[in-house]
Amino acid sequence: MPTYTFKCPTCGLVRDEFLPLAVYTAPDFAPPACHAPMERFFTPPDPARALDYLISETIYEGLQAPDGADISTRAKHRAYMRDNNLTTIDDFSETWKRAAREREASMAGQDASRVRDIVDAVNRLERG
Ligand SMILES: [Zn+2]
Repeated sequence: MPTYTFKCPTCGLVRDEFLPLAVYTAPDFAPPACHAPMERFFTPPDPARALDYLISETIYEGLQAPDGADISTRAKHRAYMRDNNLTTIDDFSETWKRAAREREASMAGQDASRVRDIVDAVNRLERG
């Protein structure tokens, strides 16, 4: 269940609510009230800590696969993915870098943003 943070416009009290998405998005949803109806509040992320968070084990804490398997550490997650023939987007980062280099090499001397070059490229494709 997503966590929604609300702030009282009068006294500034901040409160987390755990709500099903269906409840939050319902047309008749009424935000919690303090001195007045509370407003949705977004905590600004700390960019200095973003990388720490992404590379830490924290993001795996308590994580379970849809089949209930324990994937609560990076190592368990990787093993589960490998054993179930699954992949994540970062498994392709080298593939995409290579493809980008190949695209750049094939466009050498051309500017992909120029209409004329795009038309020429399409014409070359049609001639096959
Ligand atoms: Zn209040």
